[in-house]
Amino acid sequence: MKAWVLHEFGDPGNLRLEDVALPEPGDGEVRVRVRAIAVARTKDVSARAGHPPFAPRITPPHVLGTEHAGTVEAVGPGVDQSIIGTDVAVSAVLSCARCRACSMGREEACEGFALVGVDRPGSYAEHCVVPLGNVHPFPEDVSFAEAASLAANGPVARAQLDAGGVGSGSQVLVLGVAGALGSTAASLARFRGASVIGVDQLEPRRPLLDHLPLDALLDGHDGHLAQRILELTAGWGVDCVVDNLGIADLWNGYRAAVADMGRIVVSGAIGRDPIPMELLPFYLRSQSLVGVRTGNRSQVRSLWQDVRDGFRLPTQAVVLRPWTDLQAVHRLVESGRSSGQNVLAIE
Ligand SMILES: [Zn+2]
Repeated sequence: MKAWVLHEFGDPGNLRLEDVALPEPGDGEVRVRVRAIAVARTKDVSARAGHPPFAPRITPPHVLGTEHAGTVEAVGPGVDQSIIGTDVAVSAVLSCARCRACSMGREEACEGFALVGVDRPGSYAEHCVVPLGNVHPFPEDVSFAEAASLAANGPVARAQLDAGGVGSGSQVLVLGVAGALGSTAASLARFRGASVIGVDQLEPRRPLLDHLPLDALLDGHDGHLAQRILELTAGWGVDCVVDNLGIADLWNGYRAAVADMGRIVVSGAIGRDPIPMELLPFYLRSQSLVGVRTGNRSQVRSLWQDVRDGFRLPTQAVVLRPWTDLQAVHRLVESGRSSGQNVLAIE
């Protein structure tokens, strides 16, 4: 089969499309004919460049590639053959099922936390072997590309909104709303019946921003961000902030507009500077700051139930490219100029 093999950490040119052996599924595993691959900033692009947290766990030559979608074509011992031919989305998260976190249903904090594409060969390949528990069938009207994008961002978006207590009537602020995760979190918040205010750099990302289900859109460079948010929320503020950026200036900008009992949920930190945290208003207003690594198994299942119940991403939030463009997609993601979720399609 063909696969993109990383020979040494560095430039995207170090990824080469080559012939490698077809993998065989072991006990409890299935082999997926890969049709769409979500390209991830940290797990793929940053790891390829040799950066932590994932590169130190990889020994080249290696096949990257985490969440994907395709068709089950073979099963290993102990797996019912009736799943062969099923279209599935594949989660990359692997957990031990034995540690304290796993026994609490919090697999995202597993002491043996591992990933397809980091700790075992990934999905930058025509075929990928994964545990049966990682595959999730999806409705017929969902494309492989959308399924791969949902697998990559849906569970963590779901976990963020759970942690933020977001439901019908909530007012939610999503920073970096044109990003892969931000656009998914905003869409899912709306699906839950929340009002959503998006923040991003407006002009370069306008083509996607115009199609997101937002009640309002604010420019991240606006010098009066908190005032704008308070105006939009009748003075109450936002009940939940999804902040996957961790940029101190933005934090200072929105902080005063977090409501009483408001929760700030974090699943990313591209900002390098520490966040200035004043504890006095924080406790006097009964607020929370919550870190969310990714969704646990229950949240992954719930996300696919949301999809069966009608949750969809805006078409424009999934950017489809042929998988032969992988190196160019890595360069685009690295530049910080991409919006939505980049997905590679394999014929
Ligand atoms: Zn565990």
